Amino acid sequence: MADIDVCIIGAGIVGLGVGRALALGGQSVIVLEKNHGFGEETSSRNSEVIHAGMYYPKNTLKARFCVRGNRMIYDYCTPRGIMANPITKFIVATNDNEIAGLESILQKGNDNGVPGLEIWDGARVKSHETALNAVAAIFSPTSGIVDSHSMMLGFLGDIEDNGGFLVKGTPFESAERKNGVWHIKSGGQSPTVITANTLILSAGLWSEDVARRVIGLEKFVPKMRYGKGNYFRYMGKAPFGRLIYPLPTSTALGIHLTPDAAGHARFGPDMEESKTIDYHVDEDKRVKFANSIRQYWPQVDEKLLSPDYAGIRPKIGNSLHDFEDFRILFHDTHGLDGLVCLFGIDSPGLTSSMAIGEYIAEKLQ
Ligand SMILES: Cc1cc2nc3c(=O)[nH]c(=O)nc-3n(C[C@H](O)[C@H](O)[C@H](O)COP(=O)(O)OP(=O)(O)OC[C@H]3O[C@@H](n4cnc5c(N)ncnc54)[C@H](O)[C@@H]3O)c2cc1C
Repeated sequence: MADIDVCIIGAGIVGLGVGRALALGGQSVIVLEKNHGFGEETSSRNSEVIHAGMYYPKNTLKARFCVRGNRMIYDYCTPRGIMANPITKFIVATNDNEIAGLESILQKGNDNGVPGLEIWDGARVKSHETALNAVAAIFSPTSGIVDSHSMMLGFLGDIEDNGGFLVKGTPFESAERKNGVWHIKSGGQSPTVITANTLILSAGLWSEDVARRVIGLEKFVPKMRYGKGNYFRYMGKAPFGRLIYPLPTSTALGIHLTPDAAGHARFGPDMEESKTIDYHVDEDKRVKFANSIRQYWPQVDEKLLSPDYAGIRPKIGNSLHDFEDFRILFHDTHGLDGLVCLFGIDSPGLTSSMAIGEYIAEKLQ
């Protein structure tokens, strides 16, 4: 007999989303977190955008979970009074050469089943966002923003209401499957060993390190790269009421604008490879940010851009330039009973969190 049905390593939005889905399905759940609070890493260092799902190749996990997760977030948050606002989004072409790029995104979005996407001409775009430099744009009605901290608090509440719990300040150290259960060793102030039928690794930027500590898993652990994204806050009024994105590059969605309720805005993230987990934002990036923003908002005042925060994408794959899908491994891949490993849960991981939970709960059944 194991102490518990499921032990999850990592209390980010994905670990909590998975824990919620399993707890609602009647499993006893414990979540181990090395920090003294939940969601303090990538899950609180992102754009808080509810993506619609038009960037990802058809039939990938990212495409499926993003489109499904988008709807699940609105359905979850709205009745609970958690801010999830479909403020909508423009992806902007700033010259005629970029229009083909919009058409290709529209096609991907339609292939993925994203609802309501349209290409608008420049005059129509400018009648809604007068300060925008655009010859055309994709209008996405289901893109929005969410209060991700409240969402995580909601997930944790659902876990606890169903008999599960979060143990903070408790780093996972190692695990081994013996006599049909997982023996899971944790450190921190009260080092202990617990047993669980199912072990789920959802450790974000630490997923390579955590997975290497599971006996028998070594050869399935991908190399991790850090794709750092910096943000700058705009200290003046920004005259936009929706998300404004440039065309994506091969590595990232581009330095976009996220408005807040007070009429201010945040710009970012950019993308750079980082050797370490370092959240410092270098002030020297201001010029690069201003030049990028000026493409779609010519009046931006560079002096009003102030370094804000940074987040780091857990990238797998040989290069930051290649598309890599979420990697979620079950017994059929690694051959270990009762083990689920999540790797490379970068964007749109927040949007996908509830759909990932639903998927893992279904697979484990
Ligand atoms: C700059 C940036 C912008 C983004 N913007 C968006 C966006 O707008 N929309 C969107 O959908 N997605 C976005 N994403 C992606 C999204 O933020 C992530 O996919 C999501 O937060 C990942 O959640 P997670 O739970 O997997 O990881 P994390 O939030 O990193 O959680 C992992 C947890 O595991 C814990 N942990 C690690 N090692 C151990 C251990 N040994 N023992 C116990 N606990 C451990 C960590 O402390 C952490 O709390 C963005 C990401 C970045 C970096």
